[in-house]
Amino acid sequence: MFGRAPKKSDNTKYYEVLGVSKNASQDDLKKAYRKAAIKNHPDKGGDPEKFKELAQAYEVLSDPEKREIYDQYGEDALKEGMGGGGGGHDPFDIFQSFFGGSPFGGGGSSRGRRQRRGEDVIHPLKVSLEDLYNGTSKKLSLSRNVLCSKCKGKGSKSGASMKCPVCQGSGMKISIRQLGPSMIQQMQHPCNDCKGTGETINDKDRCTQCKGEKVVQEKKVLEVNVDKGMQNGQRITFPGEADEAPDTVTGDIVFILQQKEHPKYKRKGDDIFYEHTLSLTEALCGFQFILTHLDGRQLLIKSQPGEVVKPDQFKAINDEGMPMYQRPFMKGKLYIHFTVEFPDSLSPEQCKALETVLPPRAGAQLTDMEIDECEETTMHDVNIEEEMRRKQAQSQEAYDEDDDMHGGGAQRVQCAQQ
Ligand SMILES: [Zn+2]
Ligand SMILES: [Zn+2]
Repeated sequence: MFGRAPKKSDNTKYYEVLGVSKNASQDDLKKAYRKAAIKNHPDKGGDPEKFKELAQAYEVLSDPEKREIYDQYGEDALKEGMGGGGGGHDPFDIFQSFFGGSPFGGGGSSRGRRQRRGEDVIHPLKVSLEDLYNGTSKKLSLSRNVLCSKCKGKGSKSGASMKCPVCQGSGMKISIRQLGPSMIQQMQHPCNDCKGTGETINDKDRCTQCKGEKVVQEKKVLEVNVDKGMQNGQRITFPGEADEAPDTVTGDIVFILQQKEHPKYKRKGDDIFYEHTLSLTEALCGFQFILTHLDGRQLLIKSQPGEVVKPDQFKAINDEGMPMYQRPFMKGKLYIHFTVEFPDSLSPEQCKALETVLPPRAGAQLTDMEIDECEETTMHDVNIEEEMRRKQAQSQEAYDEDDDMHGGGAQRVQCAQQ
């Protein structure tokens, strides 16, 4: 990050906010912040703006490096170099880290909502359509961080931790490089010594179980209940089962159902669709077949006597669709979509046989004279979808070209020539 020569901007405001002199010691700053922050805390009816200003001023002045930048170049330099640095942190976090908990007594923080919330852990969970139809439960073994039981997440035997001396507890380090007479470069990066936590633990005091890490890995088996009728994409949440971390509200483990494609059935909401191909004879003269349902039941599917099924026809069976979520006794429909397979060709004998039972051909009534008046034609096979797609693309291109005539047509020609 390169700063231009920072101009001298206001570098007294932070001192005024805290009510201290420019040569105040760290101790003076602490005392001043403590007094003012408690007095102005929004929980005690203080002004949130003032509270934020105090935190901002204290955050900068309590850090020798930041204070130096501020004294020399003012607030703007900090903002430029640190991506909004001066006010980058939550004033409540600064307050909490200062007091290490609630200064108002009564144990934990009264501002529950201020506590950091850990991240949710999201896992896709593959399920079959059978699983969603019948319901199932899946045991999943996951490893997660839990607070160390030996030190209760403190990381030390005594429960004490010290502010990291390298970063002053901020967890971040700023390095400044002079690049030229009027140019400085500022870089912010996590503190190596404390891995960005802002704390260190005395080597002798380190918890032997977690080695000062505060958390240990734990294997946990979760039983995920997939209920009848659940949908692809539905979430199943285990609140507070994600990684634990000190001073953090543990996030959730969330499973997102991902339904695997079924070889035979497609689901749409509470309904199931099934594709079935009939031979022409079956379509005309009747058919029956066995359909194995998602729960293994064998359904006999058959046509009515004398019924003819036409190509692309749909039929439905009530109450054989998916069970409805949380009302599994109600079910959707099972739709069957029929495709009819026609023979590619017939022999003259077969035609004759068919003509004896099917309605007569309309064209047979044309007279020779009528035919003599006509021109001969030849029909060929087409893939109509492909043909239409091609025509659509052609007309789109023509449209684009037409459009170009009024605008950057010349450019397009140039491109095309290359
Ligand atoms: Zn540090
Ligand atoms: Zn421990």
